[in-house]
Amino acid sequence: MSRFTEQLAKTRNMGICAHVDAGKTTTTERFLYHTRSHGKHKIGDVDEGNTTTDFMVQEKERGITIQSACVDLTYRDHRINLIDTPGHIDFGIEVERSMRVLDGIVLVLCAKGGVQPQTRTVWRQANRYRVPRIIFVNKMDATGADFYRVVGQIEGELKAKPAVIELPIGNEREFRGVIDLLANKALIWDASDETGETFEVEEIPAELAEKAAAYRKTLVELVAEGDDALLERYLNDEEITAAELKAALRQATVQMRLVPVLCGSAFKNKAVQPLLDAVVDYLPSPLDVDAVRGTTPDGTATERRTSDEEPLCALAFKVANDPDHGNTVLTFVRVYSGVLKAGSHVYNSSKDGKERVSRLLKLQGASREEVDELRAGDIGACVGLKNTTTGDTLADEEKPILLEGITTTEPVISQAVEPKKRDDADKLANALAKLSLEDPSFRFGTDAESGQLIISGQGELHLEIKVDILKRTYGVEVSTGMPQVSYRETVRGKAPGVGKFVRQTGGHGMYGHAEIELEPLPKGTGFEFVDAITGGVIPREFIPSVEKGIREALQQGVLAGFPVVDVRATLVFGSYHDVDSSDQAFKVAGSMAFKDAFLKAQPVLLEPVMEVVVEVPEKFMGEVIGDISSRRGKVVSTDIENGTATVTAHVPLSALFGYATVLRGKTQGQGVPNIQFSHYEPVPRELSEEIISKARR
Ligand code: GDP
Repeated sequence: MSRFTEQLAKTRNMGICAHVDAGKTTTTERFLYHTRSHGKHKIGDVDEGNTTTDFMVQEKERGITIQSACVDLTYRDHRINLIDTPGHIDFGIEVERSMRVLDGIVLVLCAKGGVQPQTRTVWRQANRYRVPRIIFVNKMDATGADFYRVVGQIEGELKAKPAVIELPIGNEREFRGVIDLLANKALIWDASDETGETFEVEEIPAELAEKAAAYRKTLVELVAEGDDALLERYLNDEEITAAELKAALRQATVQMRLVPVLCGSAFKNKAVQPLLDAVVDYLPSPLDVDAVRGTTPDGTATERRTSDEEPLCALAFKVANDPDHGNTVLTFVRVYSGVLKAGSHVYNSSKDGKERVSRLLKLQGASREEVDELRAGDIGACVGLKNTTTGDTLADEEKPILLEGITTTEPVISQAVEPKKRDDADKLANALAKLSLEDPSFRFGTDAESGQLIISGQGELHLEIKVDILKRTYGVEVSTGMPQVSYRETVRGKAPGVGKFVRQTGGHGMYGHAEIELEPLPKGTGFEFVDAITGGVIPREFIPSVEKGIREALQQGVLAGFPVVDVRATLVFGSYHDVDSSDQAFKVAGSMAFKDAFLKAQPVLLEPVMEVVVEVPEKFMGEVIGDISSRRGKVVSTDIENGTATVTAHVPLSALFGYATVLRGKTQGQGVPNIQFSHYEPVPRELSEEIISKARR
């Protein structure tokens, strides 16, 4: 093994995911504590709002993690790059972009709450990106903690094969430590030591010996199943060492056959070190993962292995402003292959341009260390990139590769904003530009008619948080208008349309004539233009003008000024005039033909429908469902377990304003909704007429 391969084998790029409040921040904080020189780092507590990963003020106050901060840790001679993934569903894109660059995940579950809606979302995403995981059942000290119930849910609800490698010793207030099933030992923490640094290794308590033996037997069988040699020895009653089991369990975890399950209490600082051990022992190194796939500029599929010797290939997965350092733009990258050097020029294959990397940084929450290079498998931040945005590939210009970009969803809600102080207009525009660079799911622009500044994003909370950032980070206070739903327009039928634009005024005339067929396309297809002109009835050079005219009309909408989606326009006929025809005239003709066809093709207004997941004590279920129905919502599923009801519903966004507050009121503060965009659906007729007449006014 070369020195670099050896280093890579000792690298873990991992993230911690959890449902809000399961203890992700606290666990991260404990990781920092146990992996650093203890003198430098004061142990932080979320409740006191001084943790390292949640370094943004908004996050401290809201107790949720908005930014994926990247932290670099050292443990047992291993480098752990910890990507802090967000815990709130409104920031789905943040989760997705971290998934892209992670090799493994620690999923934190609450020992009381178990598998929760956000856990299921994260699980699905991790499946999609094939990210191996281990599970930490946290809050074993809390009232109502039940490790075995949670293990049942992992199997039943997440459909995973849990490899239980620890059992709790004591429960709730009596929780003292864990049984390490591989080593067959008990690890006991001293209750009086709040740092959790020291623990005793003891014999398994007699009252748990039988249970531990049974669980160990199951574990050995599970692990051996995937390894023929081990299985044979197991069946022959031969001794299998802990080290052999560990190696086989590592294989099974990396291949996503098994999910190691551990438990502890991050808050009480008990059993955190064994979790760090598990990260090192079971989560993959960059060498364990498949080669990253992409395409060359001519579209040929290609790939890069994790190696310093391969040409450079890196993915920019986040662009962030660093308000504490003069608003420097930080571009977070994962290097898949090759070496990225400070002071070098790199090729951005997504933008087809060269960029200079002036400096490279490794980050530990709010503090940073400058480095000369980032190697294959590394994660860090670049300073100096000007045109690189989230999802871009950086590569070697001689051997370019383009990775698949990070998908962003179109905004579903918008809101007018205006600076409270007139003088702040420029400052606001600058701040908005930075915010949208950081978060491609957040946009801004000027309304052509009213001249108002409009911000748009993924939900009410998403916009609220941006407004908050404007105030705190950029010192710009804004007043906001009512949030507006981003409707869309489309057609349900097929219809022809004629556009004839003829002006014979004085000298130079105008002549353009286009005829189209308009028809609906499947959801999410967008727009398609087909040129079916034969016999040169419209000269070649004017056809792009017709298309341009149609595209502009699409943007402006026909019914109520909302963008038109999912239609195909086929240009079938037209005519021209030798002297009077021009690009301009054909553009207008295209737009006229489109509007004509659109109104005849059963036009409809579409509205964004959100998936709402609410978890409440069972007694509130009836009321929650009643309220959802009164909001034009449809319940998709309900589930009751241990007195907790989970209601999943589809509800139009326009009926959801202020929902979080109402729900809290109806459930004595116990209901928190998870809301994310699901799909577009036609607006009921009466409502649609109302929206259209309002828009026309
Ligand atoms: P996050 O939203 O997943 O980041 O969760 P936090 O780390 O912010 O924790 C949410 C709340 O649970 C805070 O009040 C923590 O103090 C508390 N908490 C976290 N871990 C534990 C634990 O192990 N035991 C108990 N009893 N509370 C915990």
